[in-house]
Amino acid sequence: MAQAKQITPRAQDFSEWYTDVIEHAQLADYSPVRGAMVIRPNGYRIWELMQRALDDMLRATGHRNAYFPLFIPMSFLAKEAEHVEGFAKEVAVVTHTRLRATGKQGKDAIAVDPTSALEEPLVVRPTSETIIYAMYAKWIQSYRDLPLLLNQWVNIVRWELRTRPFLRTTEFLWQEGHTAHVDEADAEREARLILGIYRRFNEEWLAMPVLTGLKTESERFAGALRTYAIEALMQDNKAIQAGTSHNLGQNFAKAFNVQYQTAAGGLEYVWSTSWGVSTRLIGGLIMTHSDDNGLVAPPKLAPVQVVIVPIWKTDEEKTQVSGVGSRVKTDLEQAGLRVELDLRDTMKPGAKYFEWEAFGVPVRLEIGPRDLASGQVVLARRTGGKAPVPLQNVTSSVTTALDEIQGALFHAARERREKNSIRGATKAQFIEFIKGSGGFAYGGFCGSPSCEAEIKQQTNATIRVLPDPEFRSKEVPRNCMWCGAPSIVEAVWAQAY
Ligand SMILES: [Zn+2]
Repeated sequence: MAQAKQITPRAQDFSEWYTDVIEHAQLADYSPVRGAMVIRPNGYRIWELMQRALDDMLRATGHRNAYFPLFIPMSFLAKEAEHVEGFAKEVAVVTHTRLRATGKQGKDAIAVDPTSALEEPLVVRPTSETIIYAMYAKWIQSYRDLPLLLNQWVNIVRWELRTRPFLRTTEFLWQEGHTAHVDEADAEREARLILGIYRRFNEEWLAMPVLTGLKTESERFAGALRTYAIEALMQDNKAIQAGTSHNLGQNFAKAFNVQYQTAAGGLEYVWSTSWGVSTRLIGGLIMTHSDDNGLVAPPKLAPVQVVIVPIWKTDEEKTQVSGVGSRVKTDLEQAGLRVELDLRDTMKPGAKYFEWEAFGVPVRLEIGPRDLASGQVVLARRTGGKAPVPLQNVTSSVTTALDEIQGALFHAARERREKNSIRGATKAQFIEFIKGSGGFAYGGFCGSPSCEAEIKQQTNATIRVLPDPEFRSKEVPRNCMWCGAPSIVEAVWAQAY
């Protein structure tokens, strides 16, 4: 990726814009392995901050972290019929364990050693239900062992043909929770609890508003009883699925024979859930907030929250402004903020502003000799607006600004989503909307998979969720938006990533 070119404006080409933002903010780069990406320090820091916040929420609700192996015996995938069908087309398979020197030159110098073929091939985890349930069968004996609430932070491989940084890559990072319960009600409570945690995490940390609801059968996780999801609307009016939580029923318990002794002395299969969010959230964050100048990072997840840029002409001025700059930096760091002091003398202030803007830093403090003479510094917000603040109150001014930016980003994103949502549209209006500006379209649904398939085929829109009550329209739709048959449930359609 060359650095010199400008960021393509959103209005010109949204997809180019997206990759330009990633490049200019140095979040990720393409790797020598097709479809896999390198997450650079700026991008990885966002992930670490996400991990910490979500991990705290999961821990606070009784979940513990563990680690299960990357390799899964191939036969395990076959044990749950729907599951194998869902993942068979995208798994990487390990068949050999050794290379050998051939004595030839160049790329032929090594070859797979045919004598090292594995008796049973291993798949690289596309998700870990199968290996985890194999272990749960050992660990769970009695109702006293339940609920078992585990999570792991790992990498996943799904052999994708069409990839985009963060949104869809062959290898990605995620957390996957896997829990086992005594009955369906407890598993259902867990699946819903996690959906609520995901929502809160997305809204409070990413400042990304989400719809919550149930997936239809065609969008359900392979092997699940019910899949719940959170869905967000990006600036190009396409949806992304930002997280899923599955009530797996007893499907995996039966496939892996995970039984427990009930309090009454009988034998029962456990009820289980699984749930995950991934580095895809970084793609969602980018497409929710960023602008034509580059990344806009919500303050809570910004790798750098404040950049201090001293301005000077003479050496004497430089000594003065950088002295104040480092004092301000220390104060802000003591207040728990992530701060950079930009003392590079190879760059003009304007060029520095430009670069830190592309990096998404929410607040910039400009410290010049004239400002100091009047006891102030200039506070510039990444989201617009610039004003002097008294030097003595700089910490409280900065923390207030960061809180305001975090809140304003969420409200702007929610307002944008609502402005780009339609309710109760007719078939013709729906088609015009989806093929035009796009967004979330709410409408009645007859429940028929063939209706769903026809809509997808003609408009490329899918049901993102059957929304939870709080998101449903005041007026209950009476007819299916597409076929006119009686509606059994309200649905939200959109084109999606
Ligand atoms: Zn219909």
